[in-house]
Amino acid sequence: MNNEEKSIDISSRKVVAMRDVQDAVAAGATRLLIAENCVVTPSARDFLQQNNIALVTGGNENGAAAKPSAPSATSIASGSSSPIRAAANPRLFSTPEAEAIKKEICAVGRKLWMRQFVDGNGGNISYRIGPNEILCTPTLVSKFDLKPEDICLVDLEGNQIAGTKPRTSELLLHLEIYKAVPQAKSCVHCHPPHATAYAITGKVPPNLVIPEFEVFVGKVAISPYKTPGTAEFAQTVIPFVKDHNTVLLANHGIICWGDTVTHAEWYAEVLETYCWTLMLASQLGVPISRISDQQGEDLLAIKKKMGLPDIRFDTSRMKECQLADLEMPNSIALTPTPCDGDTGKSADANAVTNADLDSLVRSVTDAVMEAIGVK
Ligand SMILES: [Zn+2]
Repeated sequence: MNNEEKSIDISSRKVVAMRDVQDAVAAGATRLLIAENCVVTPSARDFLQQNNIALVTGGNENGAAAKPSAPSATSIASGSSSPIRAAANPRLFSTPEAEAIKKEICAVGRKLWMRQFVDGNGGNISYRIGPNEILCTPTLVSKFDLKPEDICLVDLEGNQIAGTKPRTSELLLHLEIYKAVPQAKSCVHCHPPHATAYAITGKVPPNLVIPEFEVFVGKVAISPYKTPGTAEFAQTVIPFVKDHNTVLLANHGIICWGDTVTHAEWYAEVLETYCWTLMLASQLGVPISRISDQQGEDLLAIKKKMGLPDIRFDTSRMKECQLADLEMPNSIALTPTPCDGDTGKSADANAVTNADLDSLVRSVTDAVMEAIGVK
């Protein structure tokens, strides 16, 4: 740190957003020169305040009258999609509750590593400790080696408020969930091998096979692939997270949310074990027997009592589930399909699963008939 003043001129910009101010701060700015009628987004303004960076309006570069520009109605981005939030409270970083959560995050990180759900510095964990305050894991630290002092505090826009290590680059994914789902208190993202195997094939595991999975996870969604760490990637989960506490991220891994850090990690365990079990069973050469629809209803009733989300609670949206199955008949996932360009094993796979194919064809036919009937 030094006390030298450095002005950076961004007065050619009509809108100053988070990226602009982060770049300027990274370049060592202590003052930003902006145009008189420039719009500054709320998150950019908060960031500047937190970093004690002055905003200087045009023509005043020497800063004799330099003053932080007042947050007038015209200078706050009216078109910004993010609501204006109170600035994050850095004191939430060291409360007794925060210290306990940091320990829980480290314990869960160790579980993820011990169970081989994360590799290298992969995976990340977060907890919403205040309305605009999130505790999260840092980037480039193995989840086995995490210590409470490594944990970061960020706001809902991803700005780091406290902590000595930089926050995980995949935090944006967690933040989209916190913004979309008020009851989400914690998110766990990891790459468990068997669940990720589903994610790289675009398949979701079938339902009504194991009761614990029905209750704790249920219908799993799969979000489309985008480059990790980008805002585009983070937004891929938005359509799913209200109805699903567990989402497969195509060609990547999984994300789970829960009411505690420990519970969010449980859902990752339940999904991974379920996917693994299905894969083992699919090698036995006989069809998997299913729980009946009525027994499934009983499990859903238990789930509802527990306050866990499930798209099947909303009967008007059941059609969505059926149509999703229709679009993706392989979601039954009892039949291995060959990878692109590798047809060497397809004959084998067919031999093993003819009975499954029969029932698959029957269920798809039923769904098609139903869809036609609806029209
Ligand atoms: Zn990842």
